[in-house]
Amino acid sequence: MSVIIVGAGIGGLTLALRLHHHGIHCRIYEAVPRIEPLGVGINVLPHAMRELSALGLQAALLDAGIETREMSFYNRYGQFIHSEPRGCFAGYKWPQVSLHRGALQRILVDAVTERLGEDALITGHRFVFGEQNPSYAIACFEVGGGRSRIGEEGRIEEAAAEVLIGCDGIHSAVRKLLHPHPDPLNYSGITMWRGVTRWQPFLSGATMAYAGWLETGKLIVYPIDDQRDSEGRQLINWLVEFFVPPRDPSGDWSQPGRYEDFLPRCEDMRFDWLDVPAFVQAADFVYEYPMVDRDPLPYWSDGRITLLGDAAHPMYPRGSNGAGQAILDACALADELARQYDPLVALQLYDDARRPATAQVVLANRSHPPDAILREVYERTGDKPFERIDDVITRFELKALSEQYKQAAGFDRRTLDANN
Ligand SMILES: Cc1cc2nc3c(=O)[nH]c(=O)nc-3n(C[C@H](O)[C@H](O)[C@H](O)COP(=O)(O)OP(=O)(O)OC[C@H]3O[C@@H](n4cnc5c(N)ncnc54)[C@H](O)[C@@H]3O)c2cc1C
Repeated sequence: MSVIIVGAGIGGLTLALRLHHHGIHCRIYEAVPRIEPLGVGINVLPHAMRELSALGLQAALLDAGIETREMSFYNRYGQFIHSEPRGCFAGYKWPQVSLHRGALQRILVDAVTERLGEDALITGHRFVFGEQNPSYAIACFEVGGGRSRIGEEGRIEEAAAEVLIGCDGIHSAVRKLLHPHPDPLNYSGITMWRGVTRWQPFLSGATMAYAGWLETGKLIVYPIDDQRDSEGRQLINWLVEFFVPPRDPSGDWSQPGRYEDFLPRCEDMRFDWLDVPAFVQAADFVYEYPMVDRDPLPYWSDGRITLLGDAAHPMYPRGSNGAGQAILDACALADELARQYDPLVALQLYDDARRPATAQVVLANRSHPPDAILREVYERTGDKPFERIDDVITRFELKALSEQYKQAAGFDRRTLDANN
């Protein structure tokens, strides 16, 4: 069997590795001429780590990133609400790993070129059109055109294979081919500003901390490597987010941000474990990202063509699930292609299994985010400090809120252990 993968992001690269593991031939076509370490921090949850570990990548990921020890919640006055262990510290068989998106992509690229050969990953090829006949799917790529229009500097190349998989992210051209109707980006009402800062380790040195709520300004902060520089500083990812009125969202991960747009929201967040204004201002660069998703689709697979990752189910980047769900899609699809004699049956079975599961995460991220604990405490206290957290919310309620999201996203411990 032969497979064309469009897009060398987290999903496309994982798919190539899993197909190779099953002895299925594939090539990845990527639009950008060179893969640069773009983005900031990303989290790989235990369900996705299970799959990457099966591909022999756990040691490399732990080496490049850090094993997240716990997730801790505070209000915007720095008052402690709740903490829970994560990954192996919570008894999972797999760790939760935080790392730079560029490091994750680099590890996957290196594994692909080492295992599949240098010619398996073809950069500078932007998918522009596809079609299929009873035997093949055909993909057309604009080559060497950058932003040029076809027929000027760029030229068109064709490739054919039995299956074509769109792993081309939130602005997927393969998705547009399958679903040409209007399919707008939905703005969540929340905009986030993100960056990476070298800073002294805080709390356990491996804590993912959440503080505040979206009405007034919320902070998420976690280290993404376990190295220390000569001043004892660690690489730390952060984001500040809050409700911002309707706007025209771009879905562009590389849009620059401005301090004046978000600093006032965290000006008084000076905790005993982190001086937030000083910390965020020490970042090299700030990105702005209005959180967007798209409505779940009625189908992903059409004959020999299907979708995967953000191309299939762009979701609000909450709860560390964007990369995780793309990795789960990749493994489910590759396993199905290995199991079925007929690739059309494999694509349909993959669609039947993964589309409802990921739609549930898209919807959970809209209505019941992983930090619903902070929303609950904010609603009960208003924008005021509390005397004792036990008077505001019980431990039982805190645990129930946390478990609800894990179940929706498919990484509660019981489900993962049962499926192994
Ligand atoms: C530049 C960038 C920075 C990001 N930064 C972060 C971050 O800091 N934190 C975070 O949580 N998530 C980030 N994300 C999103 C995150 O990577 C995804 O949500 C998640 O990993 C799902 O991966 P994916 O493979 O489906 O999509 P992506 O990782 O977005 O990969 C899609 C790939 O397809 C390529 N592509 C797009 N169009 C075409 C085309 N027509 N032809 C060929 N190739 C095409 C893109 O260049 C990209 O390499 C970022 C994504 C991008 C593209």
